Amino acid sequence: METLAGVTRMRLVGGNLALDFLNTRSGPPVGPSDDDVLTGYPELVAWGVYTGALSEPEVKALRRRSRDDPGGAQVAVTRALRIRDDLDEVFRAVAADRSPSTAVLARLRDDEADALGHARLDRGRAFSWTWRDDQTLARPLRPVVHAAVQLLTIGALDRIKGCGGCRFLFLDESKNRSRRWCSMDDCGTSEKIRRYVAARRTRASG
Ligand SMILES: [Zn+2]
Repeated sequence: METLAGVTRMRLVGGNLALDFLNTRSGPPVGPSDDDVLTGYPELVAWGVYTGALSEPEVKALRRRSRDDPGGAQVAVTRALRIRDDLDEVFRAVAADRSPSTAVLARLRDDEADALGHARLDRGRAFSWTWRDDQTLARPLRPVVHAAVQLLTIGALDRIKGCGGCRFLFLDESKNRSRRWCSMDDCGTSEKIRRYVAARRTRASG
Protein backbone atom coordinates (compact mmCIF):
# COMPACT_ATOMS: atom_id res chain seq x y z
CA MET A 1 0.00 0.00 0.00
CA GLU A 2 1.92 2.97 -1.30
CA THR A 3 0.61 5.75 0.93
CA LEU A 4 0.87 3.79 4.16
CA ALA A 5 4.52 4.74 4.70
CA GLY A 6 3.62 8.42 4.89
CA VAL A 7 0.71 7.82 7.21
CA THR A 8 2.72 5.64 9.61
CA ARG A 9 5.12 8.57 10.19
CA MET A 10 2.75 9.46 13.01
CA ARG A 11 2.83 7.02 15.88
CA LEU A 12 -0.41 5.85 17.43
CA VAL A 13 0.17 7.10 20.95
CA GLY A 14 -3.21 8.73 21.69
CA GLY A 15 -4.76 5.64 23.28
CA ASN A 16 -8.05 6.57 21.58
CA LEU A 17 -9.08 6.71 17.93
CA ALA A 18 -10.28 10.33 18.12
CA LEU A 19 -7.06 11.49 19.76
CA ASP A 20 -4.97 9.59 17.22
CA PHE A 21 -6.97 11.37 14.52
CA LEU A 22 -5.90 14.71 16.01
CA ASN A 23 -2.36 13.44 16.12
CA THR A 24 -2.24 13.09 12.33
CA ARG A 25 -0.98 16.67 12.59
CA SER A 26 2.23 17.24 14.52
CA GLY A 27 4.41 20.11 15.65
CA PRO A 28 5.25 22.14 18.74
CA PRO A 29 2.83 22.23 21.72
CA VAL A 30 1.52 25.68 20.76
CA GLY A 31 1.27 27.49 17.45
CA PRO A 32 0.75 26.05 13.98
CA SER A 33 1.52 22.42 13.14
CA ASP A 34 4.48 21.61 10.90
CA ASP A 35 3.50 18.20 9.53
CA ASP A 36 0.22 16.67 8.40
CA VAL A 37 -0.27 13.17 7.03
CA LEU A 38 -3.89 13.67 5.93
CA THR A 39 -3.07 15.06 2.52
CA GLY A 40 -5.79 13.36 0.47
CA TYR A 41 -8.39 10.61 0.32
CA PRO A 42 -5.90 7.73 -0.15
CA GLU A 43 -4.12 8.92 3.02
CA LEU A 44 -7.40 9.11 4.94
CA VAL A 45 -8.16 5.52 3.98
CA ALA A 46 -4.59 4.38 4.70
CA TRP A 47 -4.83 5.94 8.14
CA GLY A 48 -8.06 3.97 8.70
CA VAL A 49 -6.20 0.72 7.97
CA TYR A 50 -3.22 1.75 10.07
CA THR A 51 -5.45 2.28 13.11
CA GLY A 52 -7.54 -0.83 12.46
CA ALA A 53 -10.70 1.23 11.93
CA LEU A 54 -11.08 -0.06 8.35
CA SER A 55 -10.74 -3.60 7.03
CA GLU A 56 -8.87 -4.45 3.82
CA PRO A 57 -12.08 -5.23 1.85
CA GLU A 58 -13.54 -1.90 2.99
CA VAL A 59 -10.41 -0.11 1.88
CA LYS A 60 -10.55 -1.73 -1.56
CA ALA A 61 -14.19 -0.68 -1.96
CA LEU A 62 -13.51 2.87 -0.77
CA ARG A 63 -10.52 3.26 -3.09
CA ARG A 64 -12.63 2.12 -6.02
CA ARG A 65 -15.44 4.46 -5.07
CA SER A 66 -13.11 7.43 -4.63
CA ARG A 67 -11.63 6.84 -8.09
CA ASP A 68 -15.14 6.77 -9.57
CA ASP A 69 -16.15 9.89 -7.66
CA PRO A 70 -13.12 12.17 -7.12
CA GLY A 71 -15.40 15.12 -6.30
CA GLY A 72 -17.10 13.12 -3.56
CA ALA A 73 -13.70 12.02 -2.23
CA GLN A 74 -12.60 15.65 -2.03
CA VAL A 75 -15.77 16.52 -0.10
CA ALA A 76 -14.97 13.70 2.35
CA VAL A 77 -11.41 15.00 2.82
CA THR A 78 -12.64 18.56 3.42
CA ARG A 79 -15.08 17.17 5.96
CA ALA A 80 -12.35 15.09 7.61
CA LEU A 81 -10.21 18.20 8.07
CA ARG A 82 -13.17 20.17 9.47
CA ILE A 83 -13.95 17.35 11.92
CA ARG A 84 -10.29 17.19 12.91
CA ASP A 85 -10.30 20.95 13.63
CA ASP A 86 -13.47 20.52 15.68
CA LEU A 87 -12.08 17.60 17.69
CA ASP A 88 -8.86 19.54 18.16
CA GLU A 89 -10.82 22.43 19.66
CA VAL A 90 -12.90 20.13 21.88
CA PHE A 91 -10.11 17.97 23.29
CA ARG A 92 -7.54 20.74 23.66
CA ALA A 93 -10.14 22.61 25.73
CA VAL A 94 -10.87 19.52 27.83
CA ALA A 95 -7.13 18.86 28.36
CA ALA A 96 -6.78 22.45 29.63
CA ASP A 97 -9.87 22.01 31.85
CA ARG A 98 -11.85 24.51 29.80
CA SER A 99 -15.29 24.05 28.21
CA PRO A 100 -15.48 23.71 24.42
CA SER A 101 -17.82 26.15 22.66
CA THR A 102 -21.50 25.22 22.28
CA ALA A 103 -21.13 25.67 18.51
CA VAL A 104 -18.42 23.01 18.21
CA LEU A 105 -20.35 20.62 20.46
CA ALA A 106 -23.44 21.10 18.28
CA ARG A 107 -21.42 20.19 15.18
CA LEU A 108 -20.10 17.11 16.96
CA ARG A 109 -23.68 16.09 17.82
CA ASP A 110 -24.63 16.43 14.14
CA ASP A 111 -21.60 14.37 13.08
CA GLU A 112 -22.46 11.69 15.62
CA ALA A 113 -26.11 11.61 14.52
CA ASP A 114 -24.90 11.19 10.93
CA ALA A 115 -22.44 8.45 11.95
CA LEU A 116 -25.10 6.50 13.86
CA GLY A 117 -27.49 7.00 10.94
CA HIS A 118 -25.10 4.87 8.88
CA ALA A 119 -24.28 2.35 11.62
CA ARG A 120 -25.76 -0.94 12.60
CA LEU A 121 -25.81 -2.71 15.94
CA ASP A 122 -23.73 -5.87 15.84
CA ARG A 123 -23.59 -8.47 18.54
CA GLY A 124 -20.20 -9.44 19.93
CA ARG A 125 -19.80 -10.01 23.65
CA ALA A 126 -22.01 -6.95 23.88
CA PHE A 127 -23.74 -5.01 21.14
CA SER A 128 -21.74 -2.26 19.50
CA TRP A 129 -22.06 0.13 16.57
CA THR A 130 -20.32 -0.98 13.41
CA TRP A 131 -20.21 0.52 9.94
CA ARG A 132 -19.96 -2.68 7.93
CA ASP A 133 -22.86 -1.72 5.66
CA ASP A 134 -21.69 1.84 5.16
CA GLN A 135 -20.22 2.28 1.71
CA THR A 136 -20.21 6.05 1.66
CA LEU A 137 -16.96 7.96 1.26
CA ALA A 138 -17.37 9.37 4.77
CA ARG A 139 -17.02 5.83 6.18
CA PRO A 140 -13.49 6.41 7.62
CA LEU A 141 -14.82 9.31 9.74
CA ARG A 142 -17.69 7.46 11.44
CA PRO A 143 -15.73 5.53 14.10
CA VAL A 144 -13.56 8.60 14.79
CA VAL A 145 -16.57 10.77 15.59
CA HIS A 146 -18.16 8.02 17.65
CA ALA A 147 -14.93 7.44 19.61
CA ALA A 148 -14.81 11.16 20.38
CA VAL A 149 -18.35 11.20 21.73
CA GLN A 150 -17.74 8.02 23.75
CA LEU A 151 -14.64 9.55 25.27
CA LEU A 152 -16.52 12.74 26.16
CA THR A 153 -19.55 10.98 27.59
CA ILE A 154 -18.15 7.95 29.40
CA GLY A 155 -14.37 8.48 29.40
CA ALA A 156 -12.22 9.90 32.19
CA LEU A 157 -11.84 13.54 31.14
CA ASP A 158 -9.04 14.18 33.62
CA ARG A 159 -6.95 11.58 31.80
CA ILE A 160 -6.98 13.55 28.54
CA LYS A 161 -3.66 15.37 28.38
CA GLY A 162 -1.40 17.28 26.04
CA CYS A 163 2.21 16.17 25.58
CA GLY A 164 4.75 18.44 27.24
CA GLY A 165 6.99 18.42 24.17
CA CYS A 166 4.64 18.48 21.15
CA ARG A 167 1.06 19.09 20.11
CA PHE A 168 -0.06 15.45 20.52
CA LEU A 169 -2.91 14.66 22.87
CA PHE A 170 -3.23 11.33 24.65
CA LEU A 171 -5.27 9.41 27.15
CA ASP A 172 -3.15 8.90 30.26
CA GLU A 173 -3.88 5.34 31.33
CA SER A 174 -0.99 5.09 33.76
CA LYS A 175 -1.91 3.96 37.27
CA ASN A 176 -0.85 7.16 39.01
CA ARG A 177 -1.77 9.46 36.10
CA SER A 178 1.83 10.54 35.74
CA ARG A 179 2.24 10.31 31.97
CA ARG A 180 3.65 13.56 30.56
CA TRP A 181 4.85 12.61 27.10
CA CYS A 182 3.21 11.30 23.94
CA SER A 183 5.99 8.75 23.85
CA MET A 184 9.11 8.10 25.92
CA ASP A 185 10.94 7.36 22.66
CA ASP A 186 10.26 10.83 21.26
CA CYS A 187 9.40 13.74 23.53
CA GLY A 188 10.33 11.86 26.74
CA THR A 189 13.83 11.17 25.40
CA SER A 190 14.28 14.75 24.16
CA GLU A 191 13.39 15.94 27.65
CA LYS A 192 15.85 13.51 29.25
CA ILE A 193 18.62 14.70 26.92
CA ARG A 194 17.71 18.34 27.60
CA ARG A 195 17.90 17.78 31.35
CA TYR A 196 21.17 15.84 31.04
CA VAL A 197 22.79 18.63 28.98
CA ALA A 198 21.52 21.28 31.42
CA ALA A 199 22.87 19.33 34.40
CA ARG A 200 26.28 18.90 32.74
CA ARG A 201 26.42 22.59 31.96
CA THR A 202 25.61 23.39 35.61
CA ARG A 203 28.31 20.98 36.79
CA ALA A 204 30.86 22.43 34.35
CA SER A 205 30.17 26.01 35.38
CA GLY A 206 30.05 25.09 39.08
ZN1 LIG B 1 5.17 14.64 22.24
